[in-house]
Order: sequence, then C-alpha cells, then structure tokens
Amino acid sequence: MSRSMIADIVEKEGQQVTVSGWVHARRDMGKIIFIDLRDASGLLQVVFLPSNKEVLARADKLRPEFVVTLTGTVNARPEKMRNPKLATGGIELLAGSLEILSEAKTPPFEVDKDTMNVNEELRLKYRYLDLRSERMRRNVVLRDRVTAFLRNWLRANRFIEIETPILTKGTPEGSREYIVPSRVHPGKFFVLPQSPQQFKQLLMVAGMERYFQIARCFRDEDQRGDRQPEFTQLDIEMSFVSQEEVLALAEKMMTELVATVAPEKKITSVPFPRFTYRESMEKFGSDKPDVRKDKNDPNELGFSWVVDFPMFEKDAETGGLSAAHHPFCMPNPEDVALLDIEPLKVRAWSYDMVLNGFELSSGSIRIHQRELQNKIFKLLGLDDQTIQTRFGHMLEAFEYGAPPHGGLAPGIDRIVMILANEPNIREVITFPKTGDARDPLMGAPSDLPKSQLAEAHIEIRL
Ligand code: ASP
Repeated sequence: MSRSMIADIVEKEGQQVTVSGWVHARRDMGKIIFIDLRDASGLLQVVFLPSNKEVLARADKLRPEFVVTLTGTVNARPEKMRNPKLATGGIELLAGSLEILSEAKTPPFEVDKDTMNVNEELRLKYRYLDLRSERMRRNVVLRDRVTAFLRNWLRANRFIEIETPILTKGTPEGSREYIVPSRVHPGKFFVLPQSPQQFKQLLMVAGMERYFQIARCFRDEDQRGDRQPEFTQLDIEMSFVSQEEVLALAEKMMTELVATVAPEKKITSVPFPRFTYRESMEKFGSDKPDVRKDKNDPNELGFSWVVDFPMFEKDAETGGLSAAHHPFCMPNPEDVALLDIEPLKVRAWSYDMVLNGFELSSGSIRIHQRELQNKIFKLLGLDDQTIQTRFGHMLEAFEYGAPPHGGLAPGIDRIVMILANEPNIREVITFPKTGDARDPLMGAPSDLPKSQLAEAHIEIRL
C-alpha cells in the first residue's frame, strides 16, 4: 500500500492506510500502547491493542525518534478522547502492522519540546535533531514561503532570476573579504562576494533591465551581535528607474508579502513613513528608527524609509573619505557641485528600508557614467593604478551604453526572523554558524592535510 502523509489521513476515516515517520512520544496505558507518530506534515495518534499480540510486543520496543512504518485502520476517536489542538485530533490509527525502519539513540535534548532554552552549541552540533522540533520546522517552512512568494511576485513583475558567481573579485561593502587561493594560478586569489553589487550593475549594462537573485553574501567580520559570515539577500536591480519608483516597488512587494505569508501581522502605516537621514538622526538619534506604536505587540510591523544618506563618511583610521554605503551610489545631482569643496555634505540617492528598528535593506540609484564614477574613486583616495586594477571593468562597461539604474537588497534572514518573532537570525537559518563563526556540526573551519595546502600554494605560519 502506498504511503499516506499524516495531514491527508483526516479524509480517510474507516480506511486502511500506511503511514511512516518518527515516534514523537509514547504513552503506555495499562495493556494498551499509544504513540504519536510524526512526519513532515503533522502528528498522528496510533493505538496498539492487546488483541494484536505480536504487533503490541514489537510496539513495546519503540522509543522516541525510532523510524517506523505502520499499516492500520483510521478510526474516529471517542468523543472524550478528541484533541481540538491537533489537526488530526479527531482520529487515530488502529495499528495492524508495524515495521521498525531505524532505531534511535536517546537524543541529547528533547525534540518534542521547544529547544529555545537548550544550549546553542549542542543545538547546532545536532542541528538535524533541533530541526525536528516544531518551532524550527515552522521557521524553515516560513522561510520557504517567503522566498517562494518573492520569486513569484518578482517574476509577475517582469523580473528575471539570474545567478552570479561566488568565486569572484572583491566588491566593496565595507567588510573584510573571504579569500580563496587559486590552485591553477599560484599566488592568485578569488574572493567571495560581499554582495553581487557589481554583477547586478553589469547585468543592467547587459540590457536585462529587471534582475533579482536570492543571493548568498559573505562578509568576514569580527563577530558582533547578530551577524553571520554568510547571509542571504533578496538582491534586486532595475534599469530606467527613479528612486521614487524603486521605493514604491519595494514597498508594494513587502506589503503584499506580509499580507500573504503573515496575515496576522499589521503594518503600522502604509505608505511607509519616510525620513531623511538628518531627520532620522535628529528625531530618533538613529538611522534605524523604530516607528511601531506598540513595541510590545508581536504582530505590529513598523516599516519606514530613511533617504538622503550622505555619500561619504570620514574614515576614522585614515582621516580621508570612505563611502557611507558603497562607492557606486549616485550623488544627488543638486549636490554634485559640492563634491570638490565639501564632499562630506554631499547627499547620495541612497536609502534604507527599516523594520522595527532593524536595517532591512539598503539600496541606491547607481552611477552609470565613467567620469563621475572615476571621480568618486579618486575622492575615496584610490590612485589611477588601483582604480584600474580593481574597477577598470566597471568603468569600461560604462563606455558601452549603460542605462541609468538602481536597486536594493532586503535581507531575507531578517525578514523571516521578524515575521517569525524570533530573537536572532540563527533561529531562521537552517545551518547557521555560531556567534564566533564556527559550524559545530561539520566541524568547520578545520585543519587541512599539508599536501592539500601545498597544492593551493599555502604554507601555514602561526
Ligand atoms: N549591495 C548593497 C548591499 O549589499 C545593496 C544595494 O545597494 O543594492 O548592501
């Protein structure tokens, strides 16, 4: 008999079915054994009666997390035994046969309970068990719903999903880069992208016009707070758009996302309130304002925009200028005359989407003219040689008919974290790193054999 999913069993009262899954819990009631069986779709109560001696004896061997397959009859539960909290609470399976497919050691923590208070190192080492818990499964599923919605929405709005390389050259987003030595080109390195920024701009030069990608980004930062060395952005870029059009599109997308995947949530105000960087700093003392009316309401979502970010900041180390966001942002045309005299006063056409006090996304209208881009690199203190080796390809591309363009990149981890009411992004990343950038499950990072290092032309000096 082909296997039925537990969620579909409710329709099959009176029928014989086969179900498979994990023993979630076991209860012995005198001579009768009950188990809750769990599969990816839900929980089902299974009853082993003394009348079926052989099967009852086998059921006696069952322990939590054993993997089994069962055939039996779907019965309505007696009135008093119904469980309205469970989707299958009105029925149970009367076991006719039982096969144990896999036995299980006692798990290092209970997976039929919320694992939030279990030691995190242990949860991450046994992530495959942690993910069996209901809350973690729900988070994984919510994440899938979010990315599926975004993909469909963007496609329906004429965007195309395009993959860009992971092995590439540095793109400045203000962090240190992960480097990958080249075996075939001794002494040369790839770096992992901090974002697909340059590629998405080159795709605009290529005439793709509307691009998106659920993009993995890598930043080698000293771990502080809720950062991860790799994280996921919904990377978006559009040609022939104004800042106003980018904000309108992103706002509509987020509003419809919330209405579809988290209808219990209410957005504080639509259109999202908008503050200039200056206003936000003056009014909230922060460029990440929390505009919620009731910060204790888990279902309130306070979106806002912060616009008119400065183009440059003073670099604390060198005393020179550094890019406030990244060097590809378009200076506000009203301020271009200030570039040579008071660059710190120049506003950029750059914007952040903020949610509940978290920066959800930054973005900007980009420079698409060679001369202007070159000038910005120079203001950032790069000499001609460095500009040429690091960014010559961008400058050259702008000489072959570059359309005006702009975009943004909302963080998927943060969106899901807030929609799931989780306190940190590790709860919504299936296999996250620890706070100090390790993976206790795989044991990464790890040593490598000398021979492998030699092939990559690496010698370790500690
Ligand atoms: N690349 C930017 C970032 O990672 C986002 C953008 O400007 O589209 O923050």
